[in-house]
Amino acid sequence: MSDQVAAIEVYIVDLSQDRPYLGTLREGEVVDPQGYFVRKQNGTVYPRSNRSLVIRIVTEDGVEGWGETYGIVAPGATAEIIKDLLAGFVVGSDPLDVQAIHDRLYDLMRVRGYNGGFYLDALAGIDIALWDIAGKKAGLPLHKLLGGRYHDKIHCYVSGLPRDTLAERCEFACEWKDKGFDAVKFASPVADDGVVAEMRELRRALGEDFKIACDLHWTQTQASAIELAREIAPYKPWFMEAPLPSEDVQGLQKVAEHSGQTVAVGEEWRTVFDARLRIDAQAVHVIQPEMGHTGVTQFMRIGRYAEAHHLQIMPHATIGAGIFLAASLQASAALRNVVSHEFQHSLLGPFRHFTHDVLSYENGAYTITETPGIGVEPSDAMKQKMTRL
Ligand code: MG
Repeated sequence: MSDQVAAIEVYIVDLSQDRPYLGTLREGEVVDPQGYFVRKQNGTVYPRSNRSLVIRIVTEDGVEGWGETYGIVAPGATAEIIKDLLAGFVVGSDPLDVQAIHDRLYDLMRVRGYNGGFYLDALAGIDIALWDIAGKKAGLPLHKLLGGRYHDKIHCYVSGLPRDTLAERCEFACEWKDKGFDAVKFASPVADDGVVAEMRELRRALGEDFKIACDLHWTQTQASAIELAREIAPYKPWFMEAPLPSEDVQGLQKVAEHSGQTVAVGEEWRTVFDARLRIDAQAVHVIQPEMGHTGVTQFMRIGRYAEAHHLQIMPHATIGAGIFLAASLQASAALRNVVSHEFQHSLLGPFRHFTHDVLSYENGAYTITETPGIGVEPSDAMKQKMTRL
């Protein structure tokens, strides 16, 4: 008889840092009693102290799989979906049926409209852990199970410049250049002197050949995005990310067609259906799937759909404990069109020791490892920051 899933556990991991994500709070941004604050420029809620959800699945034979999903906002909601609803439908399953399990869980809530958000985050965490088990049982790294390796190394770009002034942000970007990186992305909500000045000064500081991307955080209108694209064009942006509110697919198509810039989106997607809407509309040039939202199964479906349309893939990487990042790198190795991957210095700095030493990088590129499964497990340091929910 095949090995079966015996138990699913959910943990919250404390990833608190001195400095909030994207940098110091700006004037008028205050932390509420629940520990949240809102960035004035993009209207988005963030926790003052970051956290993540880690999922442990163990089989009857004692094989242990690790998954992770978003826990930054209302983590109890996602944890409860796993514990109260999904775990009962996964325990007793053959973990090697991982895609079939994913589709069965997806089907459970379709008629009620739960095809995104917290529900799909819960599926993503379970999916990553099941793929980890599948790799460990086969004795193979995840990328081999997904069709094999296209990349030994994956180029990465430094994400966010959490410093208080434009001069300091330029200096910080130059420090990464000195470490061998050739690409950076800045975030418009904390570009206090405006996007054009940010782009101009970074170009001046980093030189002609450095790649500089601009994340607009869904803040523009069609007209303002196209106008802004023309204003920053002399400073040669690498790509322009998330210019419009994500609901406006037709508007995004207009920006992609008329801005003259490479448009990148995808970090909020959960499934290939989200990707299909934008790709079929020719609204995107570069797709940015986020493993913490998609899990391995949907990440690969999104990636294959993008490849069938000859689009570039640059996976997103948010704050996390390192588990979904490891899964993202493994899956990226199995996608031909991955040309770069986001690099969270806040993760690979302070939380570097949360996983065993396989998230390696040098000279601006990640190294793809051969460790079975997703290739990481929580270290003792992470386990001390994990609380079971
Ligand atoms: Mg972004």
